[in-house]
Amino acid sequence: ATILGIETSCDETAAAIVVRDHNGVGTIVSNVVRSQFDEHAAFGGVVPELAARAHISFLDHIIAQACREADMALDDVDAIAATAGPGLIGGVLVGLTTAKALAAALDKPLLAINHLEAHALTARLTDKVAFPYLMLLVSGGHSQFVLVRGVGDYQRWGTTIDDALGEAFDKVAKMLSLGVPGGPAVEAIAKSGDSKRFRFPRPLLREARLDFSFSGLKTAVRLQAEAIGPLNQQDVADIAASFQAAVAEVVGTRARDALARLATELPHAPTTLVVAGGVAANRTIAAALQTAADVAGATLIVPPIALCTDNGAMVAWAGAERFAMGARDGLDFTARARWPLDSTDMKVIPHEA
Ligand code: ATP
Ligand code: MG
Ligand code: FE
Repeated sequence: ATILGIETSCDETAAAIVVRDHNGVGTIVSNVVRSQFDEHAAFGGVVPELAARAHISFLDHIIAQACREADMALDDVDAIAATAGPGLIGGVLVGLTTAKALAAALDKPLLAINHLEAHALTARLTDKVAFPYLMLLVSGGHSQFVLVRGVGDYQRWGTTIDDALGEAFDKVAKMLSLGVPGGPAVEAIAKSGDSKRFRFPRPLLREARLDFSFSGLKTAVRLQAEAIGPLNQQDVADIAASFQAAVAEVVGTRARDALARLATELPHAPTTLVVAGGVAANRTIAAALQTAADVAGATLIVPPIALCTDNGAMVAWAGAERFAMGARDGLDFTARARWPLDSTDMKVIPHEA
């Protein structure tokens, strides 16, 4: 089937057309993303109201461009998929309402997609990954381990008790005046830094649980920066490198523990670890995850970075996977600010024709 996917849950306005063949192989026909860095730069973070307005201004053009680049008309798609949550509710409403209008006008099925499911299934678009697998989602709003047992079948094994990892990167970038987006800026300057100059805390590392906590680490970074006083370029690089080393050790160790625990507790334990979310772009973290996978005898899959950060192709693909199983959603589906992956309504219930 050919699916149009729409993503507007945060600060990316995105649309894509993806085809899924009868063997379950996916092809991205077009994938257009417009990031709102400029709109929010002056505010040091995403302003929800501005984001929603920008989605309204740009979404029609982004969808038109996705069709143009695919050399297709809107009428050539089999269904319209859009993120219906979780996310900033104003933005989600813009994308979901647009999708409903298109579905009604074109008389095509609507697929209301959970943004986290879209991140979770992306690896099956780019690599031939079979269920079950363990996903580590590390993005601007989430840090969690999810056991992916099938489409619509998720079990959460650990999450952050405070900040998300991407959020921690963004806040550290702000403290160091590195600008937005924060994660890539921290990674770039850390290259010229000494990761051993500061020994930042490794939160929760000694505990058996699979949860994360990054708020105390963030505070430790702030206190260190304040203690030095005006920071020179080398101080900034050393703090960034030391922070990155701390989170990489935490994430790598947690991943190793998660794989080991699943192996002892489940009859069919996953042997694949999939990373999703923008933080997957970080080379130091990816290296720590590779080591963790090697130790556990697991395979690590890191999708191309353009598909790890928010995009329309992942929404179209999640739509395609659900569509293939008979899912259809009603035009009365409501947008959600919160929508955990393990909620019972994620389960695919085939639509009666
Ligand atoms: P969510 O999916 O949880 O709603 P989001 O969609 O905002 O959140 P993504 O677009 O997946 O998150 O990722 C953006 C986050 O990834 C930002 O916090 C950004 O700083 C971080 N990030 C991007 N590149 C890097 C990098 N190289 N190193 C560390 N963090 C990075
Ligand atoms: Mg984003
Ligand atoms: Fe996301």
